[in-house]
Amino acid sequence: MRRIALIVAVLLANPARAAPDKALLDAAGAQVSQLTATLEQLVNIETGSGDAEGLAAAANYLGARFAALGANVERIKPLPGTVGDILVARMAGTGRGNLLLIGHMDTVYQRGALARAPFRLEGARAYGPGIADDKGGLAVILHALALLGPRDFKTLTIAINPDEETGSKGSGAIITELARGKDAVLSFEPTGIAETFLRGTSGTNTVIVTITGKSAHAGVSPEQGINALVEAAEVIRKTKDLDLGPGKQRFNWTVINQQRPARNIIPDSVVLSGDLRTASVTDIDAFRSEIAKRLALPTLAGAQVSVEVRVNRPPFTATSAGNLLIDRARAIYADLGAAIEVKDRWGGGTDAGYAALAGVPVIEALGLPGYGYHTGDAEYVSLDAVPRRLYLTAELIRQIGR
Ligand SMILES: [Zn+2]
Repeated sequence: MRRIALIVAVLLANPARAAPDKALLDAAGAQVSQLTATLEQLVNIETGSGDAEGLAAAANYLGARFAALGANVERIKPLPGTVGDILVARMAGTGRGNLLLIGHMDTVYQRGALARAPFRLEGARAYGPGIADDKGGLAVILHALALLGPRDFKTLTIAINPDEETGSKGSGAIITELARGKDAVLSFEPTGIAETFLRGTSGTNTVIVTITGKSAHAGVSPEQGINALVEAAEVIRKTKDLDLGPGKQRFNWTVINQQRPARNIIPDSVVLSGDLRTASVTDIDAFRSEIAKRLALPTLAGAQVSVEVRVNRPPFTATSAGNLLIDRARAIYADLGAAIEVKDRWGGGTDAGYAALAGVPVIEALGLPGYGYHTGDAEYVSLDAVPRRLYLTAELIRQIGR
C-alpha cells in the first residue's frame, strides 16, 4: 500500500508524458502539401476588409470547402454597415462536446497587395498578404477537420467573419451568440514564430463626453453665456488621473470637437473623446461608474455634461476554465516533445473578446506561427509547424468533444 501511495504521489508531481497518437500525427503530416495548396488558394482571393467582391469569393470558396467536409453551411448577414457575410458551418457527430471554432476571412490589405507580393514558397516559409493573419488560421481549421471523425464531437460550429480587422462591429454580437452554451471556443488567430498562447487580449473603448453650455457674444455679453470649452477643461482636470499607467488601465483624452467654432462666440457645445484600454468587462463597468461620479456635478452653473463609454472590442481574459484549456493544449504539445509559451496579455484585441462575453472557456492563437502581419510583402507562415499545429487542434477537439 505504501509503495502504491508513493507511486501515485510521484505521478501527481510529474504528470507523465503520454505517447502521441502516432496515427493522428502521421495523418497531420500527410496534410502539409494539401494545406499549402489551400494557403495559396486563400491568398489568391484578395479579401481586404470592405472588399465586397473578394469577401464574397472567399465565402464561396470556404463554404464549398466546409460543405465538402460534410458541414451545413449558412451565411449570416452582419449588422448594417459591414461588407461581407459571416460564414457559419455546422457539423454534427456522436460525441458529447459542443465546440465553436472562429477565424476571419478579411485582411488589412487592400486590392493590389497581391500583385506586389504574390504567394511564394521559400524553403519552409510560405509568403503572401494575410497568409498568417488569418488565412493560416482558416487553413488549420479546414485541415484539422479533415483529421476528425463523427465520434470526436457532438456539434462543431465554425464561424468565419468578414470584418475582424476593422473591429468586428458587424459580427461581434453574432460571435457572442454562437459561443453561448459551448464547451469551448477555439480561436485561430496567428501565433508568433515562438508559439504562444494568450491568457488575455486588450479591450478597446471610446469615451465620449458631451458638454452643453450656452452661446453669447464673447465681447459684448460673455457673462450671459455658459462656456462649454471651460467646462471641458474642468472635465479633463477631473478625469486625467483615470490613466493608471503601463500594464494597467490606460485612459487618455485624444480628440476635441466643437460644432460651430468661432472666435467671437462663447462656445455652447464641445465633445471630448478619449481612448480607454481595459483588461476586463468589470473594469469597463468600474470606469463607467467612476467617471459618471466625477462628472455628476458640472463646475459651471447651468452646464450639462453627459458621458458615454462605447465598447469597440471587448477584452478577453482567460477564466480558470480557459486556463485549464491552455494547460490541456500545453500537455498535448508536451506529448509531441514541443514547447509553447504563455503570455498574460497582448496589446491588440481579437474576437476572443466577443466569444468570452458568452462566459465560456476560450483559447486564443491556434493559427499558424507567422511573422510580419500587416506589413505587405514580408508576411509569412512557417510550414514546419503545420503537423504539430494540426495535431494540436485535432487532439484538443477530440479531448473536449468526445
Ligand atoms: Zn487576425
